Amino acid sequence: MKPPRFRYTAPESLEEALALLADLGDEAKPLAGGQSLVPMLNMRLARPSVLVDLNRIAELDGIELENGFLRVKAMTRHRAVERSPSVAQYQPLLAEAIRYVGHLPIRTRGTVGGSIAHADPAAELPGVLVALDGAVELRSRNGQRVVPAGEFFVDLLTTVAAADELVTAVRFPVLPTRSGTAWLEVARRHGDYALVGIGAVVTLSDDGRTIEDARLSFIGVSGTPVRARSAEAALRGQPLAPETWRAAAAAVREELDPTSDIHASAAYRRFVAGVLAERALALAAQRALEGMNR
Ligand SMILES: Cc1cc2nc3c(=O)[nH]c(=O)nc-3n(C[C@H](O)[C@H](O)[C@H](O)COP(=O)(O)OP(=O)(O)OC[C@H]3O[C@@H](n4cnc5c(N)ncnc54)[C@H](O)[C@@H]3O)c2cc1C
Repeated sequence: MKPPRFRYTAPESLEEALALLADLGDEAKPLAGGQSLVPMLNMRLARPSVLVDLNRIAELDGIELENGFLRVKAMTRHRAVERSPSVAQYQPLLAEAIRYVGHLPIRTRGTVGGSIAHADPAAELPGVLVALDGAVELRSRNGQRVVPAGEFFVDLLTTVAAADELVTAVRFPVLPTRSGTAWLEVARRHGDYALVGIGAVVTLSDDGRTIEDARLSFIGVSGTPVRARSAEAALRGQPLAPETWRAAAAAVREELDPTSDIHASAAYRRFVAGVLAERALALAAQRALEGMNR
């Protein structure tokens, strides 16, 4: 399959790329790792007249620890995140989830900004960002805005970013002490998109006996990542015990309203979401305790 005809541009700076997008509007599409855009071009699901290749823009690459969050610039490859000591130390949920993104060659080319901008409902990074209450930095020729993760994803492959805006960086907040995280998912084969995935965050009370705060972010169950807010609220103040995790699983099944498609039925997704919630909460709580005892 061949893509439709397009003009190719490769700006050397962010300013140049933003100027191109401002002038071209809907006609243009940014090209990052190409791992989703190129198949979409080949299948004629995307028909931009101009591709704006971001790969020569050095200022869009890198990982920085800022005031309370890890700032991953848009063109940082998945593989760089996977190998980053800062990510391993400050953002274990991201470090764990990134290994589920496709296969090594895909992670070597694919970018963090591309994953977030593409907004596939079964992709890991949007789910991680929503679990962490992170944010997305958007830039256009008119300036910058920072959009909370909960407002960024609108629907399947749709975000609030306008055609002339680039994702320039993604902010992953560093969690409070006494926190543990876990990423789990079910896919037909390792590297496939998840049928259901979960990012769990558990923060323990000072004495480590009860749950102070819990977050459950699901992918693959809806057009965007979804938080199970009622289940989260019910977890606060509960002891670290198998009954707590089982009750949370039941609450998740009650709360989520998954979709059916050719890959799995809604009933299957609902059941699996409960199983993953139970396991991920136990694991995240155990990791939080281990962190407190270190
Ligand atoms: C076989 C296969 C399996 C895969 N499995 C998974 C998986 O399990 N999990 C997963 O998460 N992903 C998976 N992917 C997708 C992969 O992670 C992609 O890399 C990712 O979705 C998009 O990143 P990219 O850098 O390749 O973006 P591109 O493909 O270059 O772009 C994707 C979209 O985002 C836009 N875009 C890119 N960068 C920006 C930016 N900075 N600002 C604004 N818009 C931008 C593009 O215009 C395009 O619309 C898979 C891909 C393949 C081919």
